[in-house]
Amino acid sequence: MSEIRTFDILVVGGGMIGSALALGLSRQGWQVGLVEGSDRGALVTPLPPATGVDAFEPRVSAISVASQQLLDDLGIWSSIVAGRHCPYQNMTVWDGDGTGRIHFDAAELQADALGTIVENRAIVRALFGALETSDVEVIDGVKVTGWWQDGDRRGIELADGHRLGAELVVAADGANSRLRQWVGLPTREWDYDQQAIVCTVQTAQSHRFTAWQRFSPTGPLAFLPLLTESGDEHFCSIVWSQDTEEARRLMALDGDHFVSELEAAIERELGAVVSVSRRFSFPLRQRHAKAYVAPGFALVGDAAHTIHPLAGQGANLGYGDVRALQDELSRARSRGLNPAEPLVLARYQRRRKAENLAMMAAMEGFKQLFARDELPLRWLRNTGMRWLDGLGPVKHRLAAEAMGLTR
Ligand SMILES: Cc1cc2nc3c(=O)[nH]c(=O)nc-3n(C[C@H](O)[C@H](O)[C@H](O)COP(=O)(O)OP(=O)(O)OC[C@H]3O[C@@H](n4cnc5c(N)ncnc54)[C@H](O)[C@@H]3O)c2cc1C
Repeated sequence: MSEIRTFDILVVGGGMIGSALALGLSRQGWQVGLVEGSDRGALVTPLPPATGVDAFEPRVSAISVASQQLLDDLGIWSSIVAGRHCPYQNMTVWDGDGTGRIHFDAAELQADALGTIVENRAIVRALFGALETSDVEVIDGVKVTGWWQDGDRRGIELADGHRLGAELVVAADGANSRLRQWVGLPTREWDYDQQAIVCTVQTAQSHRFTAWQRFSPTGPLAFLPLLTESGDEHFCSIVWSQDTEEARRLMALDGDHFVSELEAAIERELGAVVSVSRRFSFPLRQRHAKAYVAPGFALVGDAAHTIHPLAGQGANLGYGDVRALQDELSRARSRGLNPAEPLVLARYQRRRKAENLAMMAAMEGFKQLFARDELPLRWLRNTGMRWLDGLGPVKHRLAAEAMGLTR
């Protein structure tokens, strides 16, 4: 194999996280390469105008205010919001088994919105648009098939037989990161024994710019508001996380039966479900790398951690990684340090591990609290939610956490 190109920093994986990181680091003046296994053409194809449920991409993300800020600093938030997106001003969470209900309102926080729902592909598309005119060398349509190290030199091998070298390789290759495995960073992981059913629905009533989430002992159901180009407020993306057996049963139902179970599960908060798109299901697994860095190597995004989608924080944690690694590498550059300087990577790891772990622990606590049906827990949920709902400062603190404003 011949080495064809050497970079300061090579980012592997051009998803929502890796492409943002590559763009930001290149703007700092580093020589950056980005390798993405899929074809760029597929990533930048415009989304069709939304006239029905099937026009929306099934994977969407609730982008926090902090992540919006990062994307704005990269100069791409304006192109994202020039397309389809839905800011939400309210969030209502309730216990399907009781009377507890909590309501968050952006106005109480003097904010315009609690977050924005965006189709994942729209974010990747905007990032690749910006990459086109950046100094990042984008190598797409070719998979990374290996990792090499030779003394202080390191890099990756590509499926086409080429070899690339870099001072620092950053893995943003997703939850099943092959690079993380090749480099030998172990993870702590366990199966939630749940699957998330994802699809788009049209409802009889407007979503009222509210993210709805109902908890039941078999898992949470979220209705995330979407907006068409013409301003139609009757579409939502649903994420219905259920115990695996129950999820399989729901996936096997025909359209009419699925719709009637869905209406019952959301307690008809938005009236009838008028139509539903094709359904997709994703197995849910919690993973956390025991270390985020190794000599000349770092993990970001889902390659470092995956969490339950119940609070819609996975990509937001990834953008937190991007912000921290950018900050540390910017400081390194201004001091004339190598991007793989161990102290720089250690600082990145210190900043991110604690915060990601705290969020993962909170999600786990939430999931356990709602998964159990013992009377004292049900009482705690109901009283706790009502108590919290009336407790301004604590509730505001929780909302600010979810918006990423306390980091
Ligand atoms: C049902 C569900 C709902 C969610 N909702 C939310 C939400 O509301 N808000 C939120 O913040 N998060 C949410 N998340 C989490 C969010 O989707 C992920 O955290 C995010 O997509 C991770 O992005 P990433 O770029 O790290 O990884 P990925 O999106 O997995 O990207 C990895 C990239 O690496 C490329 N790649 C992989 N292997 C190779 C290789 N060998 N060579 C070259 N390229 C490679 C892939 O092609 C891909 O483009 C949700 C997750 C699920 C499952």
